Amino acid sequence: MDVIPKKSLGQNFLIDKNVIKKICEVGNINKQDNVLEIGPGTGKLTEAIILKKPQKFIVIEKDKSLIKNLNEKFRRNAVVINEDFLKYDLSSLSNKNLIIFGNLPYNISSKILTKIISYNKKDFLFKRLIFMFQKEVAERILAKDNTKNYGRLSIFSSWKLNARKIMDIDPSCFYPKPKVTSTLLIFEPKSNYVEFENSRNLEHITNIFFNKRRKMIKKPLDILFNNSKNIVDELKLDVKLRPQNLDKDTFYKLCLIYEKLIK
Ligand code: SAH
Repeated sequence: MDVIPKKSLGQNFLIDKNVIKKICEVGNINKQDNVLEIGPGTGKLTEAIILKKPQKFIVIEKDKSLIKNLNEKFRRNAVVINEDFLKYDLSSLSNKNLIIFGNLPYNISSKILTKIISYNKKDFLFKRLIFMFQKEVAERILAKDNTKNYGRLSIFSSWKLNARKIMDIDPSCFYPKPKVTSTLLIFEPKSNYVEFENSRNLEHITNIFFNKRRKMIKKPLDILFNNSKNIVDELKLDVKLRPQNLDKDTFYKLCLIYEKLIK
């Protein structure tokens, strides 16, 4: 390969043809769908997506040194944008037929997911996300309450998304080989979710609880609420429980109560 991969940008390029084919199949692109690919890199997945002939295709790549090559290869079939996805304004992409793909840079994968979820204008629409994570991050996203991986990311992801594991992917499918196993996930937006004034409040609450995940929930409740006793009664909480014992709905309820109080 003529590109020297940059560790700082999380560059582990996919090289396994079967995995690339599988990711594309899972995306199930129809002719009326629009596609966004985050971090196309050297463009192996991009090539496979183009064969499915999406209506519109946009790729966003931060690494300037890859852009010339991407433009040469894909100019006729895709809009190539040289930007940092974390700074990109998503508004113009909102579409109920939008499918987003990303073999994500692992150092910012949860930030990328959080950005999509925490879009606060109600109208950011998309159909599905097909994202590759490092396995342990995928496990945190999928975790249920009362398990060791359960935490902020599980609660935040399932607030708006249904997530499902497709498969684990071996380091040998990438160049250079990452040190960890990867996991491919598919997400679909929930048709109904609890509406908050600001998603930051949910992040704030889960931060306070999971900051000390082994401690009893009495402390974080007292930090967040002056009248914590009333809330404990209202939600019938046992203050001796640990944060991981509270199910997701309880955190969403706590966030609603919190938002009313800070108004
Ligand atoms: N999709 C390609 C590359 C995956 S590696 C493949 O599967 O082969 C991750 C890619 O994300 C790299 O190309 C890296 O340059 C790009 N990237 C890293 N940070 C980014 C950011 N903030 N915004 C957009 N792209 C980014």
